[in-house]
Amino acid sequence: MHCRNCQHVLWNAPAPEPGAARVCPECGTDYTIAQYEFAPGKVEFHCPHCDQAYFGTSEKGHLEPTEFHCTSCGGEVSMERCIVRPHGTMDSAVAMLEQPIPWLEGGGIFARWWKTVVVGVKKAARVPAMIGNRDAFSESFVFLAVNTSISSSVNVLFGIGAALLAMFVAGGVGGTFTFGPGGLVATPGNSVVTLGLQIAQFVLVPLSMISVSLLGSWFASLAGASNGLTFRRAFTIVSFASGGYAFNLIPLCGGLIGMVMWAVGASTAIAASVPRGQATAPVILGLVGALIGFACTSAFMFVLGLLLNL
Ligand SMILES: [Zn+2]
Ligand SMILES: [Zn+2]
Repeated sequence: MHCRNCQHVLWNAPAPEPGAARVCPECGTDYTIAQYEFAPGKVEFHCPHCDQAYFGTSEKGHLEPTEFHCTSCGGEVSMERCIVRPHGTMDSAVAMLEQPIPWLEGGGIFARWWKTVVVGVKKAARVPAMIGNRDAFSESFVFLAVNTSISSSVNVLFGIGAALLAMFVAGGVGGTFTFGPGGLVATPGNSVVTLGLQIAQFVLVPLSMISVSLLGSWFASLAGASNGLTFRRAFTIVSFASGGYAFNLIPLCGGLIGMVMWAVGASTAIAASVPRGQATAPVILGLVGALIGFACTSAFMFVLGLLLNL
């Protein structure tokens, strides 16, 4: 159990005054016990009044219930006001709950990708705890590139298919067809350029999504700096929580759903990375970042549409 900002050991940290936030004694960064997940039954929570020990028995190794009256002194015990330490002489690392991110585990690339997508969609709030204190910035960067490439492949293939159809079947060389409000619309254009732009999207879509994440993470880190939410950590969280983007695999209508699901997953994960009650600002900024990203993407697609119709 280390400070997320300066790695200072937080075991045995003194209980805060009632109503006061827990802060790292070394650097002053806010934290809560609930942000950390422990191996069940391996961590002792000590009554702040009489030092009576209670074991964390929930599946996250937390006290259950989180507030009760001490059986020894009758005083009020709340998990956030306990002194916390591993049981006996146990190694600190053993006391932490191991919850690997599938992407960082063994196995084939598609299996690791899909399992991490499921985490991002179903358990986004657990992403910060799963990352723990490690710096997985570059691994998360690769995951985001892989996720956006795979997830956008269906739409890109559709685009290429439409371009090929226009070139060889419907419009002949020099003409393309696009889906307009009135159905299939014939427009004059350069088929080779059209096809080239469609193929380029295999690279352009991941690049634009990575830019969106960098921007959103920068916004989130501005607001979350006092809680140890650095830019690198925010980007790692946003990227590993990007599973919702895989909704792009649904042809034609999946794009918007994918962006919204990613925004929801990323906001949930960012909110879970800072102490409860202080999540509002990063969440709003995270959403702003995602919306800016969506606007960028829309603008990008609009420009691309104009180019396609030259
Ligand atoms: Zn610290
Ligand atoms: Zn007590």
